[in-house]
Amino acid sequence: LFITFEGGDGSGKSTQARLLTDWLQEQGHSVLRSREPGGTEVGIEIREIVLHHRGDIAPRAEALLYAADRAHHIATKVRPALARGEIVIQDRYLDSSVAYQGAGRVLGATEVRDLSLWAAEGLLPDLTILLDLDETVARGRLDAANKRFDRLEAEKNEFHARVRAAFLELAEAEQTRFLVTDAAAPVETIAAIVRARVAALLGA
Ligand code: C5P
Repeated sequence: LFITFEGGDGSGKSTQARLLTDWLQEQGHSVLRSREPGGTEVGIEIREIVLHHRGDIAPRAEALLYAADRAHHIATKVRPALARGEIVIQDRYLDSSVAYQGAGRVLGATEVRDLSLWAAEGLLPDLTILLDLDETVARGRLDAANKRFDRLEAEKNEFHARVRAAFLELAEAEQTRFLVTDAAAPVETIAAIVRARVAALLGA
């Protein structure tokens, strides 16, 4: 079972991924929790380049760096775990690329999705949980936590609005794969909704 969490910065993906992992492990499941970018040693180096390089990276180069991170992560970590029968819970996957590079950087959803699928040899999640949050609320949350909203302060709300709209479009287009939750709801409320959906999947 391959489950991904998606959403904008500050939407609470990591918290929900951790809570779901803890719950599944309490039930005796073997779980691999990972993330993109940076789920492998090579990925950590790529993450460093893509998030901390001084100066701009051309949008297509950025998309290829995320795709390279994904290709290595899926081939060396995720597929082997799935083959061992483990549940993989992942913080961000190809929908992030479609939203950030495809819509945010305006490279085109179809092209970026095709690139991602090529990188991952066609692997799609069984379930994708979208934590949907208004970008101004997200900015407020991250400011309050003293985290940067994004690596580039220049990236304004319009960029994040495009990203959010793209995530919602993806969820609309693939309703059976996606569970859309209101990320403004309390953490435990969201966690319970997620558990119910995953329990249904496991029981199926
Ligand atoms: O979720 P996480 O904090 O690991 O993401 C780091 C940053 O990478 C986010 O701020 C997001 O803007 C960016 N990102 C991106 N394109 C992706 C994945 C992440 O721009 N495909």
